[in-house]
Amino acid sequence: MTQNLLLLPGDGIGPEVMAEVERLIAWFNAKAHTKFETTHDLVGGASYDKHGLPITEAAMKKALEADAVLFGAVGGPKYASVPYDKRPEAGLLRLRKDLGLFANLRPALCFDALKESSTLKPEIVAGLDIMIVRELTGGVYFGEPRGITNLPNGERRAVDTQVYATHEIHRIARVAFELARLRRNKVASAEKHNVMTSGLLWKEEVTKLHAAEYKDVELTHILADNCAMQLVRNPKQFDVIVTDNLFGDILSDEAAQLTGSIGMLPSASLGARDANGKQRALYEPIHGSAPDIAGQGKANPIANILSFAMCLRYSFAMKKEAGLVERAVSAVLDQGLRTPDIMQPGMRQIGTSEMGSAIRAALDKLAA
Ligand code: NAD
Repeated sequence: MTQNLLLLPGDGIGPEVMAEVERLIAWFNAKAHTKFETTHDLVGGASYDKHGLPITEAAMKKALEADAVLFGAVGGPKYASVPYDKRPEAGLLRLRKDLGLFANLRPALCFDALKESSTLKPEIVAGLDIMIVRELTGGVYFGEPRGITNLPNGERRAVDTQVYATHEIHRIARVAFELARLRRNKVASAEKHNVMTSGLLWKEEVTKLHAAEYKDVELTHILADNCAMQLVRNPKQFDVIVTDNLFGDILSDEAAQLTGSIGMLPSASLGARDANGKQRALYEPIHGSAPDIAGQGKANPIANILSFAMCLRYSFAMKKEAGLVERAVSAVLDQGLRTPDIMQPGMRQIGTSEMGSAIRAALDKLAA
């Protein structure tokens, strides 16, 4: 069976960390039963430089046809004065919108070897493994009306609208419940039902869906502000957290910080499954294009490599292979190998491609 992957490396360190994923794909093609075919295209500033657009229609078509999209990172100071709709980030927003990627999965996983890198005490984060499921295509970032108006008294007034309909809440909650069943079977649903009607609807609809279809999963409701506090007080109480676009944006960044390095964290964005069982999906590291270290061979490729592991697990149901990649990363960290962003005293500092090679060598051993 051949799976088609579209690779969109993007800008800055994007191409550097994607090169290590490509080498990993080649490793799998040599060893595993599934064959991956890859195509490449430009996105973000790289696309703007060549075509004057952050993503072309031809690249969008490839993304729509692919079995999964692997995305690096976009942006950089060079594009600071580009018009808003042509900014590198607009390419990513277009992909999310046109692929209908409504579910953003952000794991926060603390590798044992890195527990000292967190700003929290090691005992609070050791063994941390939580999954934040953020609604990605609705809520206050897209709700209408929105805009700034001039008032007769000379003041200005800004409006954003937080809006959710039942189907949007059900489909994201369903993703969370299904994921929980594969993990520790717990979902915390975070909203602000005490002060927001959209929060009240969210809570009621999640409760209804749970009662109808997911009674076997333990559901708790938590106010989003309390959730933020609990994440730094006792993050290990959580398994899956499901929340809206705005709270998810904030809570997932907070959870990322618990693990110590932005260079370690993957993400997946998933769409609905169609009648043929195909689900559109895009996988990307949570970090940006890191212009400060681009082109220096210093970038940590692990976030992108773990994003590919998520792709194996969620797009291709290759659980065993995904687990192998994660164990290889863990093994390399246990050997004391570190890119500069996760460097610790007594460890050996290496660059992007050495880290990629070390992970493939660990895979060779694990798969032997
Ligand atoms: P950033 O994530 O690019 O970098 C923040 C800091 O983390 C920098 O010091 C960087 O060197 C470091 N870092 C990030 N990834 C790393 C890695 N893999 N290995 C080692 N160190 C790493 O965020 P920023 O500096 O705020 O943004 C830079 C550009 O990236 C901006 O143009 C921004 O808009 C864009 N951005 C893009 C995305 C995306 O493509 N999804 C996400 C965030 C930011």
